[in-house]
Amino acid sequence: MRAVTVSITLVAIIAIAAVVYAGDGFYMKCLAKPCGYESQVTFGGGMLYEQITGYCRKCKKFVSVSWTRENIPAEIKERGKVQPRPEPLGEVWDAQNGKVLTIHACPTCKGPFLEIKKLQDLKYCPACNKPQFAVDDTKPRIAID
Ligand SMILES: [Zn+2]
Ligand SMILES: [Zn+2]
Repeated sequence: MRAVTVSITLVAIIAIAAVVYAGDGFYMKCLAKPCGYESQVTFGGGMLYEQITGYCRKCKKFVSVSWTRENIPAEIKERGKVQPRPEPLGEVWDAQNGKVLTIHACPTCKGPFLEIKKLQDLKYCPACNKPQFAVDDTKPRIAID
């Protein structure tokens, strides 16, 4: 009976975690002509991992780093491979708005990229730099868990 109780608790935790932590993936497209740059972009992590997304200028693509969440149940941690949180490359201070920006390392080239926290923060096309980068409504939205 105890085993059943434990697994029910686990299911409940997973269900709550899925609601709280579900990430969002979008098909994005540049509407400026002739650019038309397209990419899939994911914000937020999944149930068991956290993720930072940004654009790598050197690789010319959206990249992300992810790691295992700290607060997941130990039972799940034991089963999966635990990915530690990567050390950021460093921080810079933006004199224009007083914000401190954390720079992360691209998993491919190890070069710097800045986190894009949410869809609303992604306004410019990384290929042509015009403010016409938008969600492609003809394609489905992707739920991450
Ligand atoms: Zn890169
Ligand atoms: Zn563009």
